Amino acid sequence: MGDSARLLLLGGTGEAAALARGLSEMPRLTVISSLAGRTRNPQELPGAVRVGGFGGVPGLVDFLKNQAIDLLVDATHPFAATMAGNAASACEEAGLPRLKLLRPPWQRTEGDHWIEVPSATEAAAALPALAGRVFLTTGRQEIAAFSHCAETWFLVRLVDRPEEPLPLNSYELILGRGPFQTESEASLMREQTIEAVVSKNSGGGSTYGKIDAARRLSIPVVMIDRPSAPPGPTVDSVEAALDWIAKRAA
Ligand code: NAP
Repeated sequence: MGDSARLLLLGGTGEAAALARGLSEMPRLTVISSLAGRTRNPQELPGAVRVGGFGGVPGLVDFLKNQAIDLLVDATHPFAATMAGNAASACEEAGLPRLKLLRPPWQRTEGDHWIEVPSATEAAAALPALAGRVFLTTGRQEIAAFSHCAETWFLVRLVDRPEEPLPLNSYELILGRGPFQTESEASLMREQTIEAVVSKNSGGGSTYGKIDAARRLSIPVVMIDRPSAPPGPTVDSVEAALDWIAKRAA
């Protein structure tokens, strides 16, 4: 490492943005944040930002070399399994240290009625027996998995308005970006007479309001389990990531 360590921060989450802000205070460290470019108006980030895919593992290995990166922090969303796997492979190939920042999953508590499923496809399969009016909060990429639910009406919440109509028989679209509070989530679900919620087990506080609200209203949640993360050093908070980086970048 030269005078200043160079860190690639894979982002697209609130934690990654908070980490970028924390790292901007760290001396002798240059940070490049990377976003996939999925949302139209991403949060403002300090330091350098690059947007778009790298071109798989080979593209990321090239980027790491060309940018003389010393360490990589993968703070992508727990469901961004392809990027997490690519980061692990590329760092191994380039011989670079990699840290995964992974927020803990939500845990079922008393009063929760969760139906835990391994994928969006299984979530869709569970719906017909469960509810006619469903709050679908999985994000744009999983919606096609629900296209066979012909009898279900969906309240779909997305960050950005999609360019094409959604591949669902019957739905209403609302736009919104977290954090969402329990009170407003409960009102929305009551107004829309929601009978079940479909959610990824994203973890974190910013979208937990719907889980709290579902418990309060005794509504079942079809909870999609996380994909497994690649093995290797993992922390579950921004503070722990800052410590890990401070030790290596000093
Ligand atoms: P993914 O399926 O794991 O990745 C698909 C491809 O998108 C990757 O192979 C990579 O393209 C590119 N990519 C993903 N994250 C990137 C990043 N931070 N910087 C540059 N390229 C990236 O990812 P995803 O689930 O679509 O998530 C995309 C982004 O949205 C991530 O930054 C993630 O943190 C954020 N996000 C995802 C979710 C979710 O539910 N999945 C929720 C909230 C936020 P190449 O192979 O070309 O490099």
